Amino acid sequence: MIVVKVGGSAGIDYDAVCADLARRWKAGEKLILVHGGSGETNRVAEALGHPPRFVTSPSGYTSRFTDRQTLEIFEMVYCGKMNKGIVERLQRLGVNAVGLSGLDGRIFEGRHKDSVRIVEDGKTKILRGDHTGTVEKVNTGLIDLLLGAGYLPVLTPPASSYEGVAINVDGDRAAAALAVALKADALLLLSNVPGLLRAFPDESSLIREIPAADVESYLEFAQDRMKKKVLGAAEAVQGGVKRVIFGDARAGEPISAALDGAGTVVS
Ligand code: ADP
Repeated sequence: MIVVKVGGSAGIDYDAVCADLARRWKAGEKLILVHGGSGETNRVAEALGHPPRFVTSPSGYTSRFTDRQTLEIFEMVYCGKMNKGIVERLQRLGVNAVGLSGLDGRIFEGRHKDSVRIVEDGKTKILRGDHTGTVEKVNTGLIDLLLGAGYLPVLTPPASSYEGVAINVDGDRAAAALAVALKADALLLLSNVPGLLRAFPDESSLIREIPAADVESYLEFAQDRMKKKVLGAAEAVQGGVKRVIFGDARAGEPISAALDGAGTVVS
């Protein structure tokens, strides 16, 4: 079993990802796709007059502040345009894909964080009304049912809180939790960079290998959202996933290239 997470940043070639995925699926490999949609969500939110608000936590993590209206725009893009766009590509390639969010069947479940501590103008503040959280539990029943019947699951945030409220969760860490729950052989985190770069954005500074036991010490090289990928990788290998690969989804055969070791391999 291989869990593939493809991001939502500019430059990602979804046609290339889907073609590679379809080829491997038809050859008999078991795969699940998890996707993001941040770039498109930002564009749609701007167009709807509700631009994204990014906040920084006291420990330096950047995240999207998700009020109710933002959550609704997020769902329109992630569960609608992005998810159905990917499912349509796979259907055209002859793969019977089923697109679901983490709310459906409570596939991704976690605690709802209603308030968030942020640093703004050098001051620490508390913002309420946030619809975010972290995946703590993966309910694999529906996934097992789909895979057993020959469907390829295409999953996306949001997740469900324990109370059944939709929460915005990080897709990389959700994919990591899924890979652990399914005892996946590999987790691929594909984005618009060749892998983890020692000196971002210099693409020649690609880090090729990270020993599983040391992955957290590589957090210092990751800025912004790349930090979540490194954290997700740490969670996956600690949870028993043998290989996590940060790979490039901009062209070619992104899944096959990553499995051949083209990006940053954590093992
Ligand atoms: P996605 O939405 O594709 O999952 P993100 O935008 O969340 O991806 O994270 C990938 C981004 O992280 C890259 O596009 C890059 O701008 C940024 N980044 C920060 N630090 C690094 C680093 N050390 N190596 C690679 N990318 C980095």
